Amino acid sequence: MTIHVHQLPCLADNYGVLVHDSGTGATAAIDVPDAAPYLAALEANHWKLSDILLTHHHADHVQGVPALKARFPDARVVGPKKERAPIPGLDLEIAEGDIVKVGGIDVSVFDTPGHTAGHIAYYIESDDLLFAGDTLFALGCGRVFETSMAVMYHSLMKLAALPGETQVYCGHEYTLSNARFALTVDPDNNLLAERAAEVEEMRKQGKPTLPTTIALETATNPFLRAEDPDVQKAVGMEGADPVAVFTELRERKNKF
Ligand code: ZN
Ligand code: FE
Repeated sequence: MTIHVHQLPCLADNYGVLVHDSGTGATAAIDVPDAAPYLAALEANHWKLSDILLTHHHADHVQGVPALKARFPDARVVGPKKERAPIPGLDLEIAEGDIVKVGGIDVSVFDTPGHTAGHIAYYIESDDLLFAGDTLFALGCGRVFETSMAVMYHSLMKLAALPGETQVYCGHEYTLSNARFALTVDPDNNLLAERAAEVEEMRKQGKPTLPTTIALETATNPFLRAEDPDVQKAVGMEGADPVAVFTELRERKNKF
């Protein structure tokens, strides 16, 4: 079994993803900001869509589902059980501990509440792949809309604990703005400075900065580094509770 992952730029700054199992031919879409890029990629690869896996209820992650279903009526729509705003048309509701089969691929589910109350992330342990939706971004994290900051911080720590080699796919290309912000709260981090320079160059050339890895994020993403003494010092909160530091970082980024 070989897994192919295609990342599809959608709308202004969203990413969609197709995951294909060459063994069975099964193909899953992960979030659907816009159906057109999916339909084009499926056709180009002669793939038949079997599953649609959704991370959360926001329109820019689900609005392309009806158009995909119109073309692939047998595709199963899978999404979070715990969202407050229900997602219409779900065939299967899932939560942490569940495993979704996409052909021969076992996809496990993490509850990652924070951005929304029921947000979930998808993890393919066999191939070290994480689909983080709007929870974790390259050098950033999602805005906290529907839970406390503590709940979001806990979700991020859960993802940060995955193996460093895990490839992380995210819902948005926000890396350039995230990098510029990160430099303001972790100014002495050499790895971050190097990465920020790379990101500036990649975006100048119109290249995607994703996927990232858990190792790279734990070393350079300030939202995963609220316990780091340098970050704490930079925001004037030495020795403070990591949730308080995370809250300060998130609030500063909201105004950045
Ligand atoms: Zn969202
Ligand atoms: Fe989004």
